[in-house]
Amino acid sequence: MELWYKEEHSPNVKFSIKVDKHLYSHTSRFQRIDIMESNEFGRFLTLDSSMMLTEKDEFIYHEMMVHVAMAIHPNVKRVLVIGGGDGGVVRELTKYPSIDEIDLVEIDEMVVEACKAWLPQTACKLEDARVQIYYVDGLRFIRAKENHYDLIIVDSTDPFGPGEGLYTKAFYGNCFKALTDKGILINQHESPYYSEHAASLKRAYASLEGCFPITQFYQAHIPTYPTGYWLFGFASKAYHPIEDLDEEKWNQLGIETDYYNTTLHRGAFALPNYIQKLLK
Ligand code: SAM
Repeated sequence: MELWYKEEHSPNVKFSIKVDKHLYSHTSRFQRIDIMESNEFGRFLTLDSSMMLTEKDEFIYHEMMVHVAMAIHPNVKRVLVIGGGDGGVVRELTKYPSIDEIDLVEIDEMVVEACKAWLPQTACKLEDARVQIYYVDGLRFIRAKENHYDLIIVDSTDPFGPGEGLYTKAFYGNCFKALTDKGILINQHESPYYSEHAASLKRAYASLEGCFPITQFYQAHIPTYPTGYWLFGFASKAYHPIEDLDEEKWNQLGIETDYYNTTLHRGAFALPNYIQKLLK
């Protein structure tokens, strides 16, 4: 009998992937964790039946979470990643020898253990000497930090369950405080296409804008996320995402990427009118 993974993308739309093998399933204190193998997308990780990553398209998401900010901020030394237990964001960060410290704050140790066992493609750099893993709630961790990180990347689940508080004004305010004076915050949002997400997207944008002097959303095409069209948040104390992009410097670093480049960087911030209207 054929096995299919099915995910509801809206009350009227379902997305499915034919599964070759169900490799891992576990219910932790926080969520149900599944890892499956498929012919089309390779291995993939779901949490509470929501797609987190597939081996075939995770590079798009992880590169866009990391390199956009790294091509803007000229001197990132300390980075905080909240969520991101699969290791994909950490893997991209370790491509920069100039980074001294990467703190990964993941609420659910079982996600890290499962990814180390079944998804080495993303978890491969979690043992890097610069990486320190904390198994605590990011909401709590951030409260104790002040003027410490040059870059914070919030690679959380969507705004419900354990990730809900990571989209609030109180949390963004604490991130502002935890950042150094020219620090940048990057976070993932939802797809803007289905109307069910409009209110939470608008709220998250307004909350970010209320805390940071420079706030913009940017976009990428991620085939296995709802509608294949995804938004990211860029919030900054000083640097502008386009005016302060140092193309020449970033290109000279010789960082290997499959999606991100500095020309695409500019286009990623050019949002369609319907999204500009939604966010205002
Ligand atoms: N790319 C993914 C997506 O599609 O949404 C997100 C990656 S996934 C590995 C996000 C991680 O955030 C999960 O492992 C989850 O346990 C973690 N997480 C959720 N809420 C958190 C919180 N409050 N503090 C720290 N980690 C959290």
